[in-house]
Amino acid sequence: MDKLIELTINIRSMLNLLKHPLLTHKLAILRKKDTATKEFRETLKEISGLMAYEITRDLPVREITVETPLGLCKTQELAIDVVLVPVLRAGLGMVEGISDLIPSARIGHIGIYRDHDTLKPMTYYSKFPQKLSESIVMVLDPMLATGGSSSDAIRVLKDNGAKSIKLVCIVGAPEGIERISRDHSDVQIYLAGMDEKLNQNGYIVPGLGDAGDRLFGTK
Ligand code: URA
Repeated sequence: MDKLIELTINIRSMLNLLKHPLLTHKLAILRKKDTATKEFRETLKEISGLMAYEITRDLPVREITVETPLGLCKTQELAIDVVLVPVLRAGLGMVEGISDLIPSARIGHIGIYRDHDTLKPMTYYSKFPQKLSESIVMVLDPMLATGGSSSDAIRVLKDNGAKSIKLVCIVGAPEGIERISRDHSDVQIYLAGMDEKLNQNGYIVPGLGDAGDRLFGTK
């Protein structure tokens, strides 16, 4: 099959653009340049939780019986561990909204920078919970711009045994989506917004600016 057609088919099967009025509304708040740090932080948390509700639709469950005040009830509980891995630093802003919904989720961390001379990705920090291979791993990275840091984080997680990985971003650019589909065709990508392009500095346009700076008030 023609390589371009193959890539297009792949992207279609991997990309999940979540559309819900609440998601769109909250994304608009994140995008506004006048949204201050406190509101940005709260909204990033909220939008991440709303996205998690959609993303976890297909999690496996197992049958259990619980005792209610009135008797026994056959019901279900989650049958898989969930691991959240924020890509430092902006990914940190997505953790709480998701872990509020999945309190049993364990949390890893990964920090990556690009070496100025070699342009190679360098992992400067990583710490993951055990049994990654038996867990659903959600990589949290708000901005899927070039896709470099997300792709590298996924590679490191695979090297540490992760088999089932979902990439959760807020806004994506075509370049980043294409990069992930080339590097990791087995990974599902979830976005609340899909933007037009990257500018010459690698920022998503129109995007929302530097997610880390806006989250932590560092600019
Ligand atoms: N990282 C950000 O924080 N924003 C962008 O637009 C691109 C990468």
